[in-house]
Amino acid sequence: MDRAEIRSDLDALAANLRWAWHQPTQTLFEQLAPDGWEAAQRDPSVVVGQLGDEGLDAVASDASLCERIGHLRAGLDAYLAARDTWFDRSGGDRRRSVTYLSAEFGLVDRLKTYSGGLGVLAGDHLRSASDLGLPLVAVGLAYRDGYFRQQLDADGQQHALPATNDFDALAAELVTDEHGAPVTVEVPNGDGPVRIQAWRVEVGRVTLYLLDTDLDGNSLHARAITGQLYGGDQDTRLRQELVLGVGGLRLLQALGIEPDVVHLNEGHAALAGLERLGVHRRAGKPLDQALASVRRELVFTTHTPVPAGHDAFAWDLAAHHLRPLSDHLDLAFEGLWDLATYQGHGPWNQTILALRLAGEVNGVARLHGRVTRQMWAHLWPDRPVEQLPIEHITNGVHPATWVGPDVAAVLHDQVGEGWEHDVDPARFDALTTVDRHRLWQARRAARQYLVEVVRGRLAAQAERTGAQTDGRGLDPDALTIGFARRFATYKRGTLLARDVDRLAAIVGDDERPVQLVIAGKAHPQDLAGQQLIRELVELSRDPRLAGRLVFVEDYDLSLASALVAGCDVWLNTPLRPNEASGTSGMKAAMNGGLNLSVLDGWWDEAVADLAPHSEHGIGWVIGGSDQWEDRHAQDDRDADALYRLLADELVPTFHDRDVDGLPQRWLTMMIDAMRLLTPRFSTHRMVADYAERYGLLARGCTAD
Ligand SMILES: *Cc1c(COP(=O)(O)O)cnc(C)c1O
Repeated sequence: MDRAEIRSDLDALAANLRWAWHQPTQTLFEQLAPDGWEAAQRDPSVVVGQLGDEGLDAVASDASLCERIGHLRAGLDAYLAARDTWFDRSGGDRRRSVTYLSAEFGLVDRLKTYSGGLGVLAGDHLRSASDLGLPLVAVGLAYRDGYFRQQLDADGQQHALPATNDFDALAAELVTDEHGAPVTVEVPNGDGPVRIQAWRVEVGRVTLYLLDTDLDGNSLHARAITGQLYGGDQDTRLRQELVLGVGGLRLLQALGIEPDVVHLNEGHAALAGLERLGVHRRAGKPLDQALASVRRELVFTTHTPVPAGHDAFAWDLAAHHLRPLSDHLDLAFEGLWDLATYQGHGPWNQTILALRLAGEVNGVARLHGRVTRQMWAHLWPDRPVEQLPIEHITNGVHPATWVGPDVAAVLHDQVGEGWEHDVDPARFDALTTVDRHRLWQARRAARQYLVEVVRGRLAAQAERTGAQTDGRGLDPDALTIGFARRFATYKRGTLLARDVDRLAAIVGDDERPVQLVIAGKAHPQDLAGQQLIRELVELSRDPRLAGRLVFVEDYDLSLASALVAGCDVWLNTPLRPNEASGTSGMKAAMNGGLNLSVLDGWWDEAVADLAPHSEHGIGWVIGGSDQWEDRHAQDDRDADALYRLLADELVPTFHDRDVDGLPQRWLTMMIDAMRLLTPRFSTHRMVADYAERYGLLARGCTAD
C-alpha cells in the first residue's frame, strides 16, 4: 500500500463515528496517535492530521499494520453495505423511514452536542438503530458552544468553561448540493426568516444532520440561535426549537427525505408536529383529518416528571414567534394556543402540544409511564387514568459502547461472538458457568484502570488549584463505589454525607477498604446544585475519610466509561419517583457492577421482574416504594438504610474471600446482574420496541 491508499483508508475509518463502538478500530487509532490518544483529543481525525506524510510513510512500510488497516476498512464497508440486518430479517420495509429529532446527541467527547442523560440516550439510540439496520435519519443542532467544561477551584466552587465545537475540524461535513453550494432552508420567526445550513455526521449506517444558523445573510441575532446548548433566555430557546422542529423537517424535505414516522425525543422538537400539520393542510385536508394524519406519524418520548423539564413559553413570546407559522398553517394562532395549553390557560407547553399531536406517547420506564399518566390526566378528563394513551418503553444502553474491554473479552468468550447485539436472555445464561477467576481478574483490571484515570485527573486538578487531593489514597483492591450524575437537587447527591461519622466508620476500616468516586456537573444557574458540589469537595478533605472519597471534575463520556466499568457499586439516591429512568446504572450492571439504588426509574422494574430469578439478588434497594410527605424524615430514613446496607451487607460480602481470594457470594450476584440485566436493558431491545411502535416491521416480529 502507498501513502495515498493508507490515507484514504484511515480517513474513511475516522470519518464514520462507528470507530467509537468498534473496539479494534479505536485501538488502531490509539496506537497510531504519535503523541498519544489524549493529546489527539481521543479523535481519529486528529490522529490522521498529526501523522502527516512522514507518519503515513512509516505506516506504509509496515506490512502487518497495512493489512490490519485494509481489513478494518473492508469491515466498515461491509457493515455499511449489509442487507441482512436485524431489520431486514424482521420483515422491515426499507422504503419507509424514521426521522429522529433531539436537542442533544452524546456521541463522542469531542462533539459537544450533549449535556447529560438525554443526549447519551439519543447517542445510544442511533448506535443501536445503526447496528439493527433501522432506516433512521437523525436531526439535532450544531451548537457552536456545547454544554460547559467543569473546573473546580480549591473551595469546590464550580467554574463553567466554554466547550466550543469547531465543525470544520470535526468529523462533520457541510451538506452541499451538486454544485457544491450549501443546502439551506428557511424558517420564519417573529424577527423575520432565519436561514439554516446543516452538517452531516455519519454514525455507522445512520446519518445525523446538525442544523446551523451561524451563516452569512442571517442577522447576528439569528446567527446566535445555535450558539449554545441550553444557553440564552426563553426567546433563544423557543427559536432553537423552531429551528429543530420546523427547520429539521424542511431540511430533510430539501434533501428529498419524506418521513413516515417522526420521533420526538423530548418536547424540544414538538413544533415538528405543526410542520407536518402544515404539509397535510397544504395537501387540502381539513383540520381534523390533517390532525389525524399527524397522529399517525408522530411518536413522542417524554423524559421527566420534574416540571422544570417541560418547556413552557408565555403568550407574548409564543405569539411573537409562532404567528408566522400559524399563517402558514392557515390556522389562527389562538387555535395553536389551544393545542399547546390546558383549556387555554397558559403558558404554551411543548409537552402538551406533543401529547396532543402524537399517536404514540411513551415514558421511559414502567413506573415513569404510570407517573406520566397521572401527571397529564387532566388533559383527558373523561378517561380513567389507566386508559390514557400514554405507555412506556424502558430505556437502555448500547452494550458495545459501555462494556469495558476487559469484561467485554469475557462476555465474548463465554456468551459468544455477537453477544453485544443479542437480546435473547437464554444466551446470557452461559454466564452461570463463567470462569470466576477470570471474571474477577477482568474486574480488577477495570478497577485498576479507573484508579489510574482518577489519579491522573486529580493530579491535574491539584496542580491547578493547589488543593491536596491527589488520589494517592485510592486502592485498586478496595470496594469502589461510584456516584456520577447531574447535581439536580432531586438526585440527593449529598444523601451519603448525611452522617459523616457513620460514613467515616464504613470507609475508614483498613482491613476492609472502601472508596467513593464522585463526579457530576450542576447547571450554571443551579446554585443549590453547585452548593452540593462544594459540600462534597469539602468532605473529600475531611481527615476522617482519609482520602477515600474523591470528587473528579468534568464528568464526560470518557470519564463515565471508566467509572461504569471500574466501580463495584453504582449508587443512586433520587427522591422517588423523580428519576424517570436513569441509565448509568444499566451501564454499570453490564460491566458487573452492582446497583445500590432507591427503587426508582429502571431499577424499580429490574428488581420486580428479574431479582426473583437470582440466587442472592442482583443488587440492593435503598428504602422502600413509599413516598413521604416529610422530605427531611424521608432523607433520614433513606440515609439510615444506605449506611445499614453498606455496613451490614456490601462491605462484608465484598471482603469475604475464599481460599483463592474470590468473593464467591459477590461474584454470584455480579454474574446474575450481568446475565439478567444485559439483554433486557440493551438499547437494541429498546430500539426494537420502538421499531414495533413505528409500525415499520412485518406484524408479530420483535427483537431476536
Ligand atoms: C449515562 C450517562 C448519563 C446518564 O446517567 P443517569 O443514570 O441518567 O444519571 C449522564 N452523563 C453521562 C456522561 C453518561 O454517560
